[in-house]
Amino acid sequence: MINKQTKTMTIDAGSDLHQPMIKWRHWLHQHPELSFKEFISSDFIASVLEEYGIEMHRGFASTGIIATIHGKHNGSSIGLRADMDALPIQEMNEFAHKSTHKGKMHACGHDGHSTMLLGAAVYLQQNNDFAGTVHCIFQPAEEGGAGGQVMVKEGLFEKFPCQAVYGMHNWPGLGVGKFAVHNTHVMAAVETINITITGKGGHAAMPEQIIDPILTGAHVITALQSIVSRTLAPTESAVISITMANAGFTHNVIPNEMQLTGTLRYFNTDIGQKIKDRMQEIIHHTCSSMGATGRIWFEEGYPATINTPKHAQQCAKSSSNLVGETNVLRDMPPSMGAEDFSFLLNACEGAYIWIGNGEALENQPTSACMLHNTKYDFNDDILPLGASYWIQLVQDVLKK
Ligand SMILES: [Zn+2]
Ligand SMILES: [Zn+2]
Repeated sequence: MINKQTKTMTIDAGSDLHQPMIKWRHWLHQHPELSFKEFISSDFIASVLEEYGIEMHRGFASTGIIATIHGKHNGSSIGLRADMDALPIQEMNEFAHKSTHKGKMHACGHDGHSTMLLGAAVYLQQNNDFAGTVHCIFQPAEEGGAGGQVMVKEGLFEKFPCQAVYGMHNWPGLGVGKFAVHNTHVMAAVETINITITGKGGHAAMPEQIIDPILTGAHVITALQSIVSRTLAPTESAVISITMANAGFTHNVIPNEMQLTGTLRYFNTDIGQKIKDRMQEIIHHTCSSMGATGRIWFEEGYPATINTPKHAQQCAKSSSNLVGETNVLRDMPPSMGAEDFSFLLNACEGAYIWIGNGEALENQPTSACMLHNTKYDFNDDILPLGASYWIQLVQDVLKK
């Protein structure tokens, strides 16, 4: 339940929309779909919008929907964004609303995000005493597909101009009734690391005749871990993780090649470039010292998610209006996870905040289960609070 410090919410736990929201959330949870394939999820969201007579535009980035609500009074426009996609994970939960799609699961709570925005859209359509226009953005493909980038490229902000755009993600471990708002950096930039080390294969019993790419690779992996600790200032944040190492096919043959794959995370573009330059040097010199050759290349993922401070302040104020200032954390460290809301923030001012999905409690051991875990579930108790936050933000920003 919402904790006791919580003030009356626009949609409180006993309100007319909480039960429908739980039903919508469970339906979405039971029918998870992967990036750009959110066909029935998009149809379901559209059917609810239609039922409540909300204007909508479909087909952005394939399955995306923009639902537009006009206030009674004239004013500017803002965007509120929720993501819709699920993950290729086999759910291990056994509750009634568990996934019915084998190998797919809403393990990041995007079912809850879509539901909270849907609840807010329905409420705002029926209570439009605000000045301006709200565009509710139901976005596909957050989980690696860069659906946000596709929407921006397809002209999201040209067709639906917004003075600011806002996002929200549930955060396991952060208590129910709490929010976290970062002034600037929230989530990291991500790039995929690809490395090929080429040696000279041959008989494993005759090392004098070969150049061992596996031993070279072992040195490379070790040396790469010196970059964050020895090249960056201790106050900077970055992660280099080598997550795959592939070479060889039997016990008595040294292979020709070794492939390494991994992830690079950072907040600041200059730091990212510094790390990549250093990685190039380390690969080149380590490989040549072993007689091998190395090649490294990067695939860009998502840029860092960086809030505009004035909009972050507004989000903190609006969430404080609901739960009190002490329940809005302003000093949580940012996450090294990544988020494609960054593409929207690079195209428009705005802010992205976290809403508590629950702490680990004795009677609710799974409430803090981390995102992307097979046992994760979005917390239905926070649906009214999340929807209320969107409504409060609209009422504050588009004040009549
Ligand atoms: Zn996720
Ligand atoms: Zn997510």
